[in-house]
Amino acid sequence: MTRATLVWLVTVLLLLTHISVCPASAYAQDSGSGAAPAAHEAKHPPEPSIPAIGVRNTKYLDVPASAKGPPVDPAKGYRLQDLGQGLYMITDNIYQSMFLVYDRGVVVVDAPPNYATRIPQAIAEVTSRPMTHVIYSHSHSDHIGGSKSLGGHPTIIAHQETLRLLQRANDPKRPLPKLTFSERYTLRVGQQVLELSYHGDAHEPGNIFISAPAQRVLMVVDVVFPGWMPWRRFALAQDIPAYFAQVEEIRTLDWDTLVGGHVARTGTHADVDVQAEFNGDVKQAAATALVSTKPGVTLNPLDSANPWAGFDNYIDRVAGQCVNTLMPKWSTRLAGFDVYVWDQCYAMEQSLRIE
Ligand SMILES: [Zn+2]
Repeated sequence: MTRATLVWLVTVLLLLTHISVCPASAYAQDSGSGAAPAAHEAKHPPEPSIPAIGVRNTKYLDVPASAKGPPVDPAKGYRLQDLGQGLYMITDNIYQSMFLVYDRGVVVVDAPPNYATRIPQAIAEVTSRPMTHVIYSHSHSDHIGGSKSLGGHPTIIAHQETLRLLQRANDPKRPLPKLTFSERYTLRVGQQVLELSYHGDAHEPGNIFISAPAQRVLMVVDVVFPGWMPWRRFALAQDIPAYFAQVEEIRTLDWDTLVGGHVARTGTHADVDVQAEFNGDVKQAAATALVSTKPGVTLNPLDSANPWAGFDNYIDRVAGQCVNTLMPKWSTRLAGFDVYVWDQCYAMEQSLRIE
């Protein structure tokens, strides 16, 4: 627990124990059961219409056309997208990976278990050359956990932090990289080039940028989700301020096609602009809610000696205000807005308070 959090909790405790923050009469009809009366709630901002975390949603919002990509042939289970000059994206419209063909072989970038057993078939659609290298974007098993099933003995390349995390994971499905780097590594194979670079911890330590300069393609996994809300809690970013900074960094780099590792289509600079705009809005919405929400207002006085309850009550209302603020502008602009907006607001308020 940070010093700031401790100070805050003590403040809440003092508020709850020494100040009558909620009229006792609001609970007078409640016979001390601990349940807050509905009439009391009417005095406070309405609950968002989007079900909160843990509340079952009977129908999610429709996915806008702008978030959809070309269909996947169900018989194949994957779709191949030609990115130009020997570079291809493979996707099942949920995960994305790549391979690069050069004069003597093929370099594979990531092997999501969703379809990794079909990657050799996808490669065989365009070349009979052997797989010689595998690049890991980062250590997460949902992106590289199919590596072992690719077969062969490719040279595996990754960031040194990815090696460390994989040594700890000790997962036979994710063979250890033989070649690691700390800042930059340029892979030259025949006439083809991939530039690997590390921009620090954001999603997780070791998550790298993979640039194909000739094809004007940039692959960065689990940071930007073209047309979609990021996966919950900013795609589980381990460092949210750094995650926001990486979105801005991707924005400034020179590329035409972004491979984000997820969703049904590749991304454009316009998609990254939208992501950055959303990030700015959720940050502003959470910051405003943190300031304008009063601790303890709807807390049952019977819970006044429970600082955890006071904190939970406060943060729930902060997140609710954040969700309400974002809804009008974003609910139809990003697919899956309703699925993860609560998660983003909770992650944002926490980041703003302690990071
Ligand atoms: Zn990941």
